Amino acid sequence: MSYQDERQVRQAIVDIHRKLYELGFSVANDGNTSVRLDPDKIFITPMGLNKAALKVDQICVIDAKGNTLSSNGYTPSSERQLHTAIYDVRPDAKAIIHAHPPHAIACTLVNVSLKEPVLPEVIVALGAIPTARYAVPSTKDFGDAAAEEAKNYDAVVLDRHGAVTLGQTLDEALQKMERLEHTAKIMSIASAVGRVTPLTKPEADRLRMMSGRPDSMDNAITSAVVPEANDELVELIIKEVKAAMVSRKV
Ligand SMILES: [Zn+2]
Repeated sequence: MSYQDERQVRQAIVDIHRKLYELGFSVANDGNTSVRLDPDKIFITPMGLNKAALKVDQICVIDAKGNTLSSNGYTPSSERQLHTAIYDVRPDAKAIIHAHPPHAIACTLVNVSLKEPVLPEVIVALGAIPTARYAVPSTKDFGDAAAEEAKNYDAVVLDRHGAVTLGQTLDEALQKMERLEHTAKIMSIASAVGRVTPLTKPEADRLRMMSGRPDSMDNAITSAVVPEANDELVELIIKEVKAAMVSRKV
């Protein structure tokens, strides 16, 4: 259910941060969330406060470029460029959560990727969980790095820092954040005891078709079953070889 008015949005942001804290996805001042109520009106958490104890009148409002529209004396999140960059490439997104789920961050520290097709439910629910390239938090480059991946995926790990998820509502984004962190937890356990084996390509393809994501980035490899030109065939083979090399590194 989408948000009806400003009061509902402010309360939803307050509520979601309490849940993020209870889930252990963010501590102290960490994390920030936003809701885009109108194309040029984004409600976003303030900078610096303990987000588990937010109050509705502390939520700030910015425009699509990150300029402050109203703030009640507070400063909009230092990560507002992360939010505006993602909204910019995802016109369908209405809500964004940025948190610091510990297993997801830990995986980036030891190069355990969550992008490989390993768990069926992840392929069906999210397509894949890529990791954005490293960038310094709270910079424009950080927002750009996240947006490069969020353009095609709803759940993205941020190298050495956290994760970002998006959806029509904050509850939807939270579900994706839970899925991401649970996947990271499973991958942490599995990687600690052995080598993780991805699903076979035909099975991963079948799951992608079931998920209704024939256009996903991962599927770009498999959807071109009948290339129209030799150049496409060469490109297809290169992609297949690269994918095989990546999967062997996991
Ligand atoms: Zn952060």
